[in-house]
Amino acid sequence: MAEATANIGVIGLATMGSNLARNLAHHGNTVALFNRHYSRTEKLMNEHGTEGNFVPAETLEEFAASLKRPRTAIIMVKAGAPTDATIAQLEEVFEPGDIIVDGGNSFFKDTIKREKEVRAKGFHFVGCGVSGGEEGALNGPSLMPGGTAESWKTLGPILQSIAAKVNGEPCVTHIGTDGAGHFVKMVHNGIEYADMQVIGEAYDILRRGLGMDAEEIGDVFAEWNKGDLDSYLIEITAEILHHKDAETGKPFVDVVVDHAGMKGTGTWTVQTGLECGSPVAAIGEAVFARALSSHGELREDAQKEGLAGPNKTIDLAGEDKAAFVEDVRKALFASKVVAYAQGLNEIQDGAKEYGWDINLSEVARIWRGGCIIRAQFLLDRITEAFRGDNPPASLLFDPYFEKIIGESQDAWRRVIVRAVEAGIPTPVFSSSLAYYDGLRSKRLPTALTQSQRDFFGAHTYGRVDKPGVFHTLWAEEGKPEIEA
Ligand code: NDP
Repeated sequence: MAEATANIGVIGLATMGSNLARNLAHHGNTVALFNRHYSRTEKLMNEHGTEGNFVPAETLEEFAASLKRPRTAIIMVKAGAPTDATIAQLEEVFEPGDIIVDGGNSFFKDTIKREKEVRAKGFHFVGCGVSGGEEGALNGPSLMPGGTAESWKTLGPILQSIAAKVNGEPCVTHIGTDGAGHFVKMVHNGIEYADMQVIGEAYDILRRGLGMDAEEIGDVFAEWNKGDLDSYLIEITAEILHHKDAETGKPFVDVVVDHAGMKGTGTWTVQTGLECGSPVAAIGEAVFARALSSHGELREDAQKEGLAGPNKTIDLAGEDKAAFVEDVRKALFASKVVAYAQGLNEIQDGAKEYGWDINLSEVARIWRGGCIIRAQFLLDRITEAFRGDNPPASLLFDPYFEKIIGESQDAWRRVIVRAVEAGIPTPVFSSSLAYYDGLRSKRLPTALTQSQRDFFGAHTYGRVDKPGVFHTLWAEEGKPEIEA
């Protein structure tokens, strides 16, 4: 049996697991390695075995024996049944007090259930969101661990060693108990969907609406990346738009089929939003925009049908093109802030529902580096907005964001109007503005909705002029009102 020399182990050595294991080794950890098929372990050892201290194991028994107590293992296998199977196998070889970490993209409700079951057997279980893709796993991800405060004591310093650093601060914090980490990772991904979609909408308006070419729009994005919008996604968008397809010499974006895939975390964010009554409409529209894009046959049929509508460039009616491009930037920024506001509110709603104490300032802080939605300027501001004992109920009420959105909203409206006139869909721009206007509205038409509900279903209503719950007897003469 191997001597217990490793302070951490990784199970599942595909792209994410092997990069995370290398990152751990690069930071002075001695890393035990296990993969269901040993060939992956051998590959990692052959290609990178000299980068640090690794202890490869052919069996889980060897893996467990090579770990110091409390044994700590990060599982990086496919989410779902493979994760359950791996946990069950680990329980056979681990001892009470050992720490099992699931770093896969697990659904937070699975994590809540697993944590309960695993804890009942005396182990610690930590569901840990890992963001940043394969590059982040290797060079510094943003990490969102849940689980007990006790497991954080052992795991925290290890995760701090490998996390991305911003101004020297590691992009990791103990998010909360059981499924809190995976919940926050899920919302992170939901925001990512909206962030990508608003970039797409801005691109479409400039491309189809203003007739700019991909290269030119790449320049615009590169410029935007120097200001408020400075972010990883804007940066890679500029790079993609500047890239030419090697085979045809055409802009790369023009040779890619316009069907966007998804793996489910955006859908979970929306489903959870619906369950918690959290209006994550911008994220929902981003998920649906991908779904619509992938309905290839339906879209082809629509082309054949020749559905009526404008199909033209935007008529600037004498307006300066550069000024309109600036309007698009403002619309993009405002829509993006609304998506963040909705996502952060969903975290608050989830925390209430599942009994977590989640610090939004800390969440924004650890999203500043390592993850896909990293955007230092914006997230610095969000970190500030939620710092202290009296955080705003919405990001939109923070004085900085209130002012900037207030100043951007005319441009935001102009852009949507022009896009609608030209027949260019802007689901997230439009939905975000509708959310903003919905929040601002002193009175909403839902008074009529509630009246309808009372009419057909006796669902009752409140009155603006007195307390109580009322029902109108709609079928009776004079429609008398009774107190319900
Ligand atoms: P995959 O999701 O492709 O999973 C492959 C790994 O899972 C292999 O090690 C494989 O072992 C193992 N595996 C599959 N089925 C089983 C099983 N029944 N029992 C035991 N092991 C099994 O790998 P990735 O590296 O892409 O992702 C790993 C995890 O990290 C996933 O949960 C993913 O969602 C998550 N993640 C991925 C990100 C990404 O950008 N790719 C970002 C953040 C998280 P074998 O080699 O023996 O087949």
